[in-house]
Amino acid sequence: ASGSGTIITQPPPPAATRESRIATHSHIKGLGLADDGTAMESSQGFVGQRMAREALGLHLSLLRQGRHSGRPVLLVGPPGTGKTALAVALSQELGSKVPFCGMVGSEVYSGEVKKTEVLGSCFRRAIGLRIKETKEVYEGEVTELTPSEAENPLSGYGKTISHVIVGLKTVKGTKQLRLDPSVYEAIQKERVVVGDVIYIEANTGAVKRVGRSDAYASEYDLEAEEYVPLPKGDVHKRKELVQDVTLHDLDMANARPQGGQDIMSVMGQLVKGGRTEVTDKLRREINKVVDRYIEQGVAELVPGVLFIDEVHMLDMECFTYLNRALESPMSPYVVFASNRGITTIRGTEYDGGYGGEGIRSPHGIPVDLLDRCMIVKTEPYARGEIRTILETRCRVEGIQVAPAALDRLADEGEKSSLRYALQLLTPSSIVARTAGRTEVSLEDVAQLEDLFLDTKRSTLVLKDLDANTKRY
Ligand code: ADP
Repeated sequence: ASGSGTIITQPPPPAATRESRIATHSHIKGLGLADDGTAMESSQGFVGQRMAREALGLHLSLLRQGRHSGRPVLLVGPPGTGKTALAVALSQELGSKVPFCGMVGSEVYSGEVKKTEVLGSCFRRAIGLRIKETKEVYEGEVTELTPSEAENPLSGYGKTISHVIVGLKTVKGTKQLRLDPSVYEAIQKERVVVGDVIYIEANTGAVKRVGRSDAYASEYDLEAEEYVPLPKGDVHKRKELVQDVTLHDLDMANARPQGGQDIMSVMGQLVKGGRTEVTDKLRREINKVVDRYIEQGVAELVPGVLFIDEVHMLDMECFTYLNRALESPMSPYVVFASNRGITTIRGTEYDGGYGGEGIRSPHGIPVDLLDRCMIVKTEPYARGEIRTILETRCRVEGIQVAPAALDRLADEGEKSSLRYALQLLTPSSIVARTAGRTEVSLEDVAQLEDLFLDTKRSTLVLKDLDANTKRY
């Protein structure tokens, strides 16, 4: 399809692993800054860490003025001090549909894929493309959804869907459509029920559920539900559709075997490990089409945020790649994080020229890249801040915790780490529920501390073990 100069722009479903990595930051909605740029004590899910938030706020205004010119931010601070949360907040401040990609430096050593390939795909996950197209659609609130069955024409046994009747309503009028079984499939995939607002693309039959009609708002009060007004205008109309995808989505959608979506090709893919190959050639072709879309005003680039944690795990080859990628006009905003001080830059150890010692540099980053970074530090949290963060997470996860239990968790957070305290939340709620209680008690937390160690205690265990084995 790339030969004809068009590409598939329907994004494939997102990968579950990367999604879940961001899930622990779902309470973070932004940097929580006042109009004058000062950080509020607790706002938009953010608590404390005010200097870092204000620094990122300033950086954000440079980005908005288009004056970042490839300057990454480097966040330095101990684990669990909100470095990832800050990067997530930065992307949210840039806009709700701005992509965010988080990775850890060590991810590049997968063995199967080239290091720069891993980096490259993360870069493309962090670059968005907003595509605007005017399309002919049928849009409205679903008033009727009736599939019609018929005898199976092939075997004569069983029933198949012959067509489906869909009633759509707008402020202006109603329309009844008789549609193909394939559209019915699409309707089912989107889990459309009567009372939902949907649109159907006239040419492709693609179905999109917009949300639940707000006429039903009082009936079902699920918090997850998004209510939308009854569409205006006619059911059948031309509508500007805005689609947000990442360059990585486009790579994946177009790397799929095309045309041959039959069972054999799907099986073949499974046998090969289900990996589809995105070649540099494919990326170049996609870039070409993207460039043309931009020129024609059909699409615009939306740079997102690429967060690289434990940046000291990257090696010289990766840093060389990064330096080049940051210069590209298609670059996301990059945020590095590290909790290391002066350390050897990976990949320089065996280089004869450095006496086998390797080059040592702050945070294991080569100085030329370091020079371009805006460095921001994060501070360990005080007990009160840890308590507030825990409280916030409880609210988001719908966990009720007794004040005494929360105090105990806050103590744990201060003693070992915020991460450890946060990790105890979900299991302690399960322990409570199993015991038939709705609220997590002090005992539940105490029980879990015995079951799961923090790193201080786990290293102690091994020290004791060492001492004992030496004795015998
Ligand atoms: P780091 O990247 O520095 O190791 P994280 O950002 O992963 O730390 O923080 C650990 C957890 O604590 C995450 O769930 C994060 O959302 C939350 N968190 C960290 N700092 C704050 C803060 N200042 N306010 C609210 N939540 C925070």
